[in-house]
Amino acid sequence: MQIAVLRKYSKKLLVFSFAIMLGFVSAAQPQSNNYATNDYFMKSSTVPGNDSAEIAEKKGSVTTGVGTALSKYGKANQLYVSMVDSLSRVLFRYPLIDSSGLNYAKEWVGTPNMGLRRPNYVIIHHTANNSCEATLQEFTTPGGREASAHYVICKDGTVHHMLNDLLRSHHAGDSKWGNNTDINSSSIGIELVNNGSQPYTEEQLNSLAILLDRLKTAYKIPAPNFIGHGDVAPTRKADPSSKFPWKEMSEKGFGLWWDDTTGVEVPENFDYLLGLRIIGYDISAPASVVAAFKRHFMKDGSGGSMNAAVRKIIYVLYRKYL
Ligand SMILES: [Zn+2]
Repeated sequence: MQIAVLRKYSKKLLVFSFAIMLGFVSAAQPQSNNYATNDYFMKSSTVPGNDSAEIAEKKGSVTTGVGTALSKYGKANQLYVSMVDSLSRVLFRYPLIDSSGLNYAKEWVGTPNMGLRRPNYVIIHHTANNSCEATLQEFTTPGGREASAHYVICKDGTVHHMLNDLLRSHHAGDSKWGNNTDINSSSIGIELVNNGSQPYTEEQLNSLAILLDRLKTAYKIPAPNFIGHGDVAPTRKADPSSKFPWKEMSEKGFGLWWDDTTGVEVPENFDYLLGLRIIGYDISAPASVVAAFKRHFMKDGSGGSMNAAVRKIIYVLYRKYL
């Protein structure tokens, strides 16, 4: 009986692998309604009746749309599946055997009360180029910078979901927000195709808003945790540029914004760097962090010079983070 089940599973796996090789399916691409039922991300590692092999079988004959676009990335898709396979083996490495000298119990006791860790931040980037194709090429090529993002949004609004949200993408690099020094482990990275000096397209921003809404709902991401790459790495990065509409995004619930500053008196002893630190910034390089703040919250790309208006906005905003 068990052998029969195994054979059935192997057949499904073979069909799935073959479909991946031909580029007929996007590996581990979630069904859209999965985002609404976010409980399974947290409470279970298996989804009865909804495994990838079944999806592959259902989509196996699809040769247009997604299938055609992805076929030239068949090799990268194969590598993706190999990576996920090897990572899944890591999860089975229990009970732990290590050389730390701990007095582990002789009998291993596992607990089924667990779930997958979920992202709690969204980091927005721009690609600093004009080409969706060049970005996909870079993100699918092993070696080199080995950079990636969970999502790439082309200028025409097309969304490429490049890896499962629950996996760690290499998008933020050396970065810090609050006391979180491993942003990649706790965030979703979204790249907008944009050369850094042009406006973002309406189609891109529409797709982004839909995507952010889905992510916020699925993973219960707090509004202040939608931030930019330049916010978490102010000395190294300046994306997204000052053309990114953070105010409009905050009105949809993605990121915070400041209220009217008319009549606001900033206390003389207010330390604006401390205010920036409370918002989340790493203040070890003050000029860079002021430049990052102005870019994000004032649409001002003029750099790190300080003045009374900037100080007042920091004062009004930081109190929302207390
Ligand atoms: Zn970036």
